[in-house]
Amino acid sequence: MTQRDDMDEVLERLRQAVGPGQCLAGPEIGPAYLSDTMHALAGPGPLALLRPRSVEQVAAVLAVCHTARVALVVQGGRTGLAGGATPLPGCVLLSLELMRGVLEIDAAAATITVWAGTTLQEVQEAAWAAGFFYPVDLGGRGSCQIGGNIGTNAGGNRVLRYGMTREQVVGLEAVLADGTVLSSLGKMLKNNTGYDLKQLFIGSEGTLGVVTRAVLRLQPQPRSTCTALCAVRDYGAVLQLLQHMRQALPGTLSAFELMWPDFYALVTALPERAPPLPHGHGGYLLLEALGSEQEADQARFERVLAAALEAGIVDDAVIAQSGAQAAALWAVRDGSAELRRVFWPHVGFDISIPTSELGEFVAACREALRSRWPEVQMVFFGHVGDSNIHIGVKVGDGEQPEHEVDELVYGLVRRWHGSVSAEHGIGVLKRAWLGFSRSEDELAAMRRLKLALDPHLILNPGKIF
Ligand SMILES: Cc1cc2nc3c(=O)[nH]c(=O)nc-3n(C[C@H](O)[C@H](O)[C@H](O)COP(=O)(O)OP(=O)(O)OC[C@H]3O[C@@H](n4cnc5c(N)ncnc54)[C@H](O)[C@@H]3O)c2cc1C
Repeated sequence: MTQRDDMDEVLERLRQAVGPGQCLAGPEIGPAYLSDTMHALAGPGPLALLRPRSVEQVAAVLAVCHTARVALVVQGGRTGLAGGATPLPGCVLLSLELMRGVLEIDAAAATITVWAGTTLQEVQEAAWAAGFFYPVDLGGRGSCQIGGNIGTNAGGNRVLRYGMTREQVVGLEAVLADGTVLSSLGKMLKNNTGYDLKQLFIGSEGTLGVVTRAVLRLQPQPRSTCTALCAVRDYGAVLQLLQHMRQALPGTLSAFELMWPDFYALVTALPERAPPLPHGHGGYLLLEALGSEQEADQARFERVLAAALEAGIVDDAVIAQSGAQAAALWAVRDGSAELRRVFWPHVGFDISIPTSELGEFVAACREALRSRWPEVQMVFFGHVGDSNIHIGVKVGDGEQPEHEVDELVYGLVRRWHGSVSAEHGIGVLKRAWLGFSRSEDELAAMRRLKLALDPHLILNPGKIF
């Protein structure tokens, strides 16, 4: 039998696993499935695209791939920024897009149980309609799926207050490489019965199993939102303001986003975004607090900021008095979405450094980049309250010296004992730099775990490691 015959046989078994309409091959596979936001497949296409409708079908597909030693790449909404969902030549692509929808909202447990293919926005909306709040939020909300959010341990805008996706997952169902279904969809917050296996699948980027269902924690709906943009002189004042706000608004601060002047200048030069505060300050902070009573919370928020102004921590501030004004302040920070249009080409970074050292790190990074490429342009911004910033580095207008820029920036991240990926994952794009944030022993332990759960290395091979 030739290799082609073998593959035809595998394809036939896959078809039987899911039914004919749910197994596509060759030109039937649309181009959208061949890339994620940042990375496209190079080389021959996948063997097949499978769109199962049940856990049993997912298990059957995995069992076929395990037996035939065929690589399988699981895809969510393909909004990932690290190439994790990009197919490999000849692989089986598994899309959970038909396993979509809310299964249950339990008001007493304050949980929502969903299929992994449900989009983040659908979860947010269903939670809100039931009188609850699902706090994870990010730009890809309309397309990214809960399975993808769990696969990447997505962060986003409100990590400071509610934590990352990991903190929201109460129960999980996942299918292992050989088709074994691990179903642990309990709604208990407390469950210390041996290893907490769900943690293995959160942030493992489809390399240890396929998430099929999840029980997520819900929060009470916030009844008030207070938003302000503050200008400060330097990073020392940023740290002082963070302390001040945390202490004065215990538990309610939900965003503490810093824009360094280079980023602020770039995004407020866009015609639709006039600068709410004048240029010339050392940094611009977008603050948000979510509370329970608009009038009283707004009054307290304003008093707390007035005290920061009086103490000389803040130099200038604009406080939103309406939802529209708050949206206009957020639009400045969300100008990051325009970077691919107005600051392109560039090399981008999503890194973590302890918040207390971020100012020093940025200064060192700026200096090192400028001494290597005197003409370099840079933008620094991000979730400093979560110790996470994004960096854009642009060296001229042509092809970017990507590897050298990566080497320089990630080299500094290593020196600062930071993380080369704060929230986007490793995928393929950051694989070369994983060792800058993880020790040899840690990597060896990860590989042992991978081998134990996926002995034939069929799940998303070449990703992370
Ligand atoms: C405009 C925009 C803004 C963004 N902002 C943020 C942000 O603020 N914070 C942030 O963290 N990310 C952000 N992202 C990145 C992205 O949205 C997240 O990484 C998201 O969690 C990916 O979900 P997805 O369904 O698109 O996953 P995909 O891109 O399809 O997959 C991502 C990884 O998860 C794996 N995976 C997918 N589904 C499953 C499953 N069911 N079981 C196991 N593994 C699975 C894949 O194999 C892959 O390795 C942004 C992206 C865009 C386009």
